[in-house]
Amino acid sequence: MNGWVKGGLALGGMAVGLGALKRTLNPRPRYAPWEKPRYEEFENKILIIGGGFGGYTAATKICEATRKREDVGVLVIARDNFFTFWPMVPGIVSSDVDTRNVAQPLRRALIMAGSSFRRAEVKGVDKERKVVIANDGLEFPYDQLIISLGGQPNFFGIPGVEEYSLTMKGVEDAERIRNRVIERFEEVSLIRGDVPESKLTFVVIGGGATGTEVASEIHNLVHHALAPDYPNIDPNRVRIFLLEGLPQILPELDPALQRAARARLHSERIDVRISTFAEEVTADSVRLKGGEEIESENVIWTAGARPNVTIRDLDLPIDERTGIKVDKHLRVEGHPGIWSIGDCAAIPDIRQENGKVVPPTAQAAIQEGYTVAKNVIKTIDGDGDLEEFEYRPLGQLVELGSDFAVNEVMGVRFSGLAAALFWRMAYLIRLNSPQSKIRVFADWVIGYMMQPAVTQIRGSSEETRRP
Ligand SMILES: Cc1cc2nc3c(=O)[nH]c(=O)nc-3n(C[C@H](O)[C@H](O)[C@H](O)COP(=O)(O)OP(=O)(O)OC[C@H]3O[C@@H](n4cnc5c(N)ncnc54)[C@H](O)[C@@H]3O)c2cc1C
Repeated sequence: MNGWVKGGLALGGMAVGLGALKRTLNPRPRYAPWEKPRYEEFENKILIIGGGFGGYTAATKICEATRKREDVGVLVIARDNFFTFWPMVPGIVSSDVDTRNVAQPLRRALIMAGSSFRRAEVKGVDKERKVVIANDGLEFPYDQLIISLGGQPNFFGIPGVEEYSLTMKGVEDAERIRNRVIERFEEVSLIRGDVPESKLTFVVIGGGATGTEVASEIHNLVHHALAPDYPNIDPNRVRIFLLEGLPQILPELDPALQRAARARLHSERIDVRISTFAEEVTADSVRLKGGEEIESENVIWTAGARPNVTIRDLDLPIDERTGIKVDKHLRVEGHPGIWSIGDCAAIPDIRQENGKVVPPTAQAAIQEGYTVAKNVIKTIDGDGDLEEFEYRPLGQLVELGSDFAVNEVMGVRFSGLAAALFWRMAYLIRLNSPQSKIRVFADWVIGYMMQPAVTQIRGSSEETRRP
C-alpha cells in the first residue's frame, strides 16, 4: 500500500471517528416530533415548579419510568431556563469555571429526557381548578403538582446586611462578587496617595461551606488572576476576613478536617474569626458584637438561608423557617396531589426523633427527587403503598482552590490535592450533559495551563438583587 492510500485511509478513519464522537455528544431527543402530544392533552399531567436539583431530578426520573406510557406528560416551569450547578458557583468568582458552563441549559436537558419546559415565574396555585398561576396571567394545569422552588438568603433582620452586602444565591451573584473585586482594583489603581483600608478589605460573613469557598476564591482571584495585571497594587494589601458565629468554621465536618481547612485559609492570609457576630453592616464597615469595627466596602453575606418566599403565596401549610410542611411520603399536608421537595420543603428527617427536618442540600434534593418520582407514579397508578423518604447523607466536599479540598465521604476523611481531584471528578460526572462535562473539564485544563483572562463587564456588578 503506498503512502497516499495509507494517508487517505487514516483521514477517512478520523472523519468516521469524529462523526461518531459528534453524534455521542449531541444525542437526539427521546421524543420526535418534539412535545407531541401537547402537555395539556395528556391524561395525567405532572407539573413540576422549579428546575433545580429537586425539580430536575424528579422530572427526569418520572420521564425515565414512564417512557413507554402514553398517558403521562411532564412539564417543568422555572424562572430561569438554566440549571444552576450550585457546587461550582463559587468557582465563578475566581474564573476557575465559566459562568455559562455552571448555568447549564435546562430546556435542552429536559426535552432530551422527554419533558416539556416553560420559563415562567410562579405566582400562585388555584387548587380548585388545579392550575398554577404564573406571570402575565399564564396558567398551567396539573393533576399532580411537585413544588421545588429552592431557597434564598436569610438576613435575620441584621441592620444593613440586605442593603449593603452581596449575596451568593446564583450565578449572577458570583459574577457580581468577581466584578466587585475587579472594580476595587480599578478604583485603587487610579488613587494617588493614601488608599482607604475599606477599599481592599473583603469580609465574608458565614463560615459554612459556601462562605469558606467564597473567601478562598476571592484570594485566588486576587493573587493568581489580578495581581499580574495590576503591578501597582501589592496583592498582600488585600485583606480577606471570614466571620463565623459558631466556635468553628465548616461545622458539619470532622474537627480534623476543620483544622485542615483553617490551616489552608491561614496560608492564604485569610483572617478567620470564629464566635464572631456581625451586628451591623454599613456602606463602609462591619460592626461586630463587642464593638469592634472592620472597615470594608465589600461585604459578602453567606450566613443564612431560608425557603423561597414565593411559597407564602401558594396558600399551603408552611413553617416560615423550614418550608412547606410535608409528610414522610413528601405529600403536602391536607392537599392530595401536591408534593414538595428541596430547600423549600420541611421534610421530616425520620432518622431523628426530635422533629428535625432534612437539611437543605443538593444531595438531599436529589434523593427527594427520586422518591417523589416513584410516589407520584404510584399515586397515578392507584398503588397506595408509598415510599417513605429517608435521607442518606453521603458526606461533604469543600474545595478551597483548585489544588486543595477537605472531603468526608461515607465516613472517609481526606484533604489536600487528592481530595481536590476527587471533588472535581465527583462533581464533573454529576453535570447533566456530556457537553457540560467537556466544557467544565476544558475550563479546568485551560485554567491549569494559563493565567485566567479576567474582564469586568461593567454595569452587572450592582444590579438589583432578586428574591
Ligand atoms: C453557592 C452554593 C453552593 C452550594 N453547594 C452545595 C454543595 O456543594 N453540595 C450540596 O449538597 N449542596 C450545595 N448547596 C445547596 C444546594 O444548592 C441546594 O440545597 C439545592 O440546590 C436545592 O435544590 P432545590 O431544587 O430545592 O433548589 P434549586 O436547585 O435552587 O432550584 C430552585 C428552582 O426554582 C426556580 N424558581 C425559584 N423561584 C421561582 C419562581 N417564583 N417561579 C418559577 N421558578 C422559580 C429556580 O429558577 C430553580 O430552577 C449550595 C448552595 C449554594 C447557594
